[in-house]
Amino acid sequence: MTDNPTQTISGRVGMVGAGQLARMTQQAAVALGVELTVLAESAEDPAVLAGARFRQGSPANIEDLRQLASLVDVVTFDHEQVDPELLKELEAEGVKLAPGAAAKLHAQDKLHARRALASHGFPIPGFAEASTIGEFDQFAAEQGWPVVAKAPRGGYDGRGVWMLEDRGQAEELLDSASGPFLLEAMLDIEMEIAVMVARSAVGELAVYPVVETVQREAMCREVKAPAAIDKGLAEEAAGIATEIAGRIGLVGVMAVELFITPGGLLVNELALRPHNSGHYSIEGCVTSQFEQHLRAVLDLPLGETSLTAPSVVTVNVVGGDSEDGPESRLADALAVPGAHVHLYAKQTRPGRKLGHVTVCGQDADATAKAARSAASALEGGFS
Ligand code: ADP
Repeated sequence: MTDNPTQTISGRVGMVGAGQLARMTQQAAVALGVELTVLAESAEDPAVLAGARFRQGSPANIEDLRQLASLVDVVTFDHEQVDPELLKELEAEGVKLAPGAAAKLHAQDKLHARRALASHGFPIPGFAEASTIGEFDQFAAEQGWPVVAKAPRGGYDGRGVWMLEDRGQAEELLDSASGPFLLEAMLDIEMEIAVMVARSAVGELAVYPVVETVQREAMCREVKAPAAIDKGLAEEAAGIATEIAGRIGLVGVMAVELFITPGGLLVNELALRPHNSGHYSIEGCVTSQFEQHLRAVLDLPLGETSLTAPSVVTVNVVGGDSEDGPESRLADALAVPGAHVHLYAKQTRPGRKLGHVTVCGQDADATAKAARSAASALEGGFS
């Protein structure tokens, strides 16, 4: 008699990519009895090391994507780096993608997202598309220097974002990288916030608390839940996120990043997948973003999103000069009461996200202090 593994599982999900997001999705999949298969570049990828089934291959190769799709009920994503044309092709062949190719494009192409959000009347920063120095000049004549230039595709953690002080720096950029670029004025940002929203194919929606994201060198370093903002603004941000989810036909979870500026809220970018700003939800919300994503893509009922404590803070663990990974310093971090440590099993490298720590508590300052102290211990610093 042969075993039929499909008899003992509640769903089969494929994920393109096998990094830390897939690794944490695997943890949620185990709990729900969902079989997660990842398309991994290597057997050493974080999700594979966490026990996910895997197909070795590249997200740039349609055959590899087809192979993954043939093993599962629905295909979803751990990142944005898949050619949108390949996704359209897969969809035309009948592959069920969640989110679908048209929705996913809003996270893959910043220019496309800006135009779509503008056409629906959502508040966004003033922007222009530019490929020539003349177009940079024209934008600067209207908005002044400095100008923020962004690569429409392929950027993350600030890679692909350039703060240009003057025309000379714009010329240097045009010499070193090819356009088109998305241009924005340098905004006066009072706070950066994010809202996680989930939507299933039948249209059920769930929105998470609004969180503050703290960046250093354009990379998210801390997430504080809830954001210390007034209720009206939080409701406005949550309303924008849920409306975008419906408009673009989201299936899965989506992080909506917004800037609070003196003129009000502006939508910065969308990530149609679990996101760094939602890691706090593993311990900090009734349903984690990873479990919620699986529920949404499998069309299962969505879970409750409320906080499990008055304050939840996540601090990222980022590689520094030390050659030893954070694993070697685990004991120091675990000595911090209440520290929930997540390590991604990634090789250490300066500036690379290697893990995170979440602390749930009563008081925002004390919670942040504890989370920072554990994260700093893992990074090899002193607190
Ligand atoms: P990425 O896709 O790399 O995360 P973002 O567009 O989110 O790129 O930009 C990264 C960070 O750069 C933001 O979190 C913010 O701190 C800063 N930033 C982005 N756009 C602007 C802007 N127009 N004005 C000022 N700061 C900005």
